[in-house]
Formats: sequence, C-alpha cells, structure tokens
Amino acid sequence: MKTLTVELGARRYPIYIGSGLLAQPDIFRQHIKSTQVLVVTNDTVAALYLQPVLNQLQDYRVESLILPDGEQFKTLDTLSTVFDKLLAAKFSRNATLIALGGGVIGDMGGFAAACYQRGIAFIQIPTTLLAQVDSSVGGKTGVNHPLGKNMIGAFYQPQCVIADADVLDTLDDRQLSAGLAEVIKYGLIRDIEFFVWLENNMEALLARDKTALAYAIEQSCVNKAHIVAEDETESGVRATLNLGHTFGHAIETGSGYGHYLHGEAVAIGTCQAADLSRRKGWLTEADVDRIISLFMKARLPVIPPAQMTTEQFLELMAVDKKNVDGQIRVILLKTIGAALLPIDVESSLLQQTLNSYGR
Ligand code: NAD
Ligand code: MG
Repeated sequence: MKTLTVELGARRYPIYIGSGLLAQPDIFRQHIKSTQVLVVTNDTVAALYLQPVLNQLQDYRVESLILPDGEQFKTLDTLSTVFDKLLAAKFSRNATLIALGGGVIGDMGGFAAACYQRGIAFIQIPTTLLAQVDSSVGGKTGVNHPLGKNMIGAFYQPQCVIADADVLDTLDDRQLSAGLAEVIKYGLIRDIEFFVWLENNMEALLARDKTALAYAIEQSCVNKAHIVAEDETESGVRATLNLGHTFGHAIETGSGYGHYLHGEAVAIGTCQAADLSRRKGWLTEADVDRIISLFMKARLPVIPPAQMTTEQFLELMAVDKKNVDGQIRVILLKTIGAALLPIDVESSLLQQTLNSYGR
C-alpha cells in the first residue's frame, strides 16, 4: 500500500492506494471519530462492495443508505434523504459519513457531510477510476441544480481517501477508459515522465493489471494533490486541471447529456486544445499526433461529433466558468507536460481549430 498526503495544513489528509484495502479494517478505524457511522452508496455499488465495508465496521453503530444510481439523482432532493437518515438515526456532530461509490456518491456524500450540523467527518472510498484519480481528491463537493451542473456545493476535505484498485475489476470498459482520460490529463499538464509511462503501459492498464493501475492512480493523485495544496479554491494553477474541459463541456451539452461520458468528451476536447496549442506555435504536429494516439490507445474518442458546428461550439464555450467579460478562455499546452493558466485566445485561431480539427 502507498500513502500520499494532501498537504493542506490542519486539513491535511492521507490517500491510501493499493490492492485489498477494503479488507483492512485498521485503515478505516483510525479515521472514525465515534461509534456513529453512515455509509452512503448506490444500488449498483452496494450489491458489490457494501458488505465487505460493513464487515470492517461490526463494532460500530453503522447505518447504510443506498441511493439510486445515476447523475440524475445528484440533486438537492436526494441530498435531503441523506439528512433524513442522519437525523432519524440521531447522529451527532462527531459521526462519520463514508461515501462508497463513484464521483456522484463522493460529491453528494461529501456535501452532505459538509452541511450536516455544519460539518461532520467523512471518508471517501472511490470505486470508479475517475473518482480515484480525480473527484475524491481536492475537496470539491456538491450537487446539480436543474439550471446547472455542480452549481450547489462546498469545498470540504475528507479525513482520508481509500483507493482500492481491486474494485475496478467490476467497472465496465467504457467507464475505465473515461477515467483514463483524466489520468492522461495529469501527464499532459505537468508530468512528461508520467505521460511517457502511460504510452508504454496503456495495455497493462486496460488489462486491469493491479500494479499498473495502482501506479497510475498514485501518480495522478500525486499531481492532483500538489495542485490542490498550491491552490485549494481555484484562484490559479488549479484551473489547469480543466485542460480539454472547455471544449469537452461544449461537447457534453451539444451532443445531449448522457451521450458521451465526461472523460470521453474531455478526450476529444483535449485533442482540440492540443490542435489549438499547435496553431499557437507551442506544440509540434508530432506532439499532437502523440497525444491523439495515446487517447486512442486508451480506447477513447478523439474526433468531435460531426453534427456540432463551429457556431454551436462557440456559443456553448462562451458560458464556461473560466471566461472573463465574455471572452472565451482555455487551457493550452506549452509542451507535453506543461499547461498554461487560462488564456484569451484569438478567435481566428479558435475558429481554425473548430473548423479544421477532425473535420
Ligand atoms: P458515477 O459515480 O456515476 O459512476 C459511474 C457508474 O459506475 C455508475 O453507474 C456507478 O454506479 C458505477 N460504479 C461505480 N463503481 C463501480 C464499480 N467498482 N464497479 C461497477 N460499477 C461501478 O460516475 P463517475 O465517473 O465516477 O463520477 C462522475 C461524477 O463526478 C460527476 O457527477 C462529476 O461532476 C463528478 N466529478 C467531481 C469532481 C470533483 O472534483 N469533485 C471531479 C470530477 C468529476
Ligand atoms: Mg473532469
């Protein structure tokens, strides 16, 4: 097992990464503050991993809450049922909430923990690759609003994150690849060595080799932890984690939510950002080819949906959170392994990318 630390002063916390971690009770127990524990999960994950987790907690007063599975349930209404459960169980301020699931459960469980009696302890047990390398680390929690994704939330850090590579065995191939898009992102924005390692080890990752997966999770978390420690609330370098996301969000919306998984849209969007970085004179054509090849190797799409027009992209990209005064801002690459902070791009270059890349 590897232990990393997210260095956030008094709120610093460990990320445990390895195999067989759900069967090691000591990992949980040192982070649980009282006898009251609520495990929040969904019906898919409960069928697979709830019992193994409950087995480690037999001498606690454990309650579990099984939510319906799906992004459409990441809402204030569902959140309310978590509070109902905590209150009905008469759980107090020193209770601990364990979020067992993918990013939806982690975001919602974390936000419930942040709000219940103004904050109780929580533990993240991420069960998708995306959650292990991205959403469980960094303290962004929240739910969706009918008018916008992740619009209601809080920064709230967990007591610890337990990333067990074994749980990825049951994840479907498409979800695994979607998580790999964010993994590749870390190499691109700040870690050329990791990027090269990914080029050489993609087959092992797709074959779910546990050593390879644990290494990829570790390197991803090392990179994310550094960024979060430097810029917890996203006033600077944390924005580089949005590489490919301005294009990607436009694709998610433009193609109808649910058509592409987030990681799939990010893969396409990152290729577009790479193309734009080449037009700026920073990446070479060979760099762009290398980036596209790695996403393809990870079985991710790299071509924007044919039906989306340049005008539609521009319209959707104009609503991004990074924009200032209506000017579209994107994260671009100076080289493979070095991203720049959000920059205003000349609309002529952006249009060239949107008109030409993958068309
Ligand atoms: P998800 O939570 O919906 O999980 C994907 C699917 O996999 C679900 O059907 C889930 O039930 C299933 N699943 C989970 N673990 C499984 C396992 N081990 N075996 C089999 N099936 C399993 O989606 P996700 O991709 O994990 O997370 C997406 C969410 O994360 C979005 O809501 C997004 O906004 C959020 N997110 C948050 C942050 C952050 O910083 N907080 C970052 C990125 C994404
Ligand atoms: Mg993302």
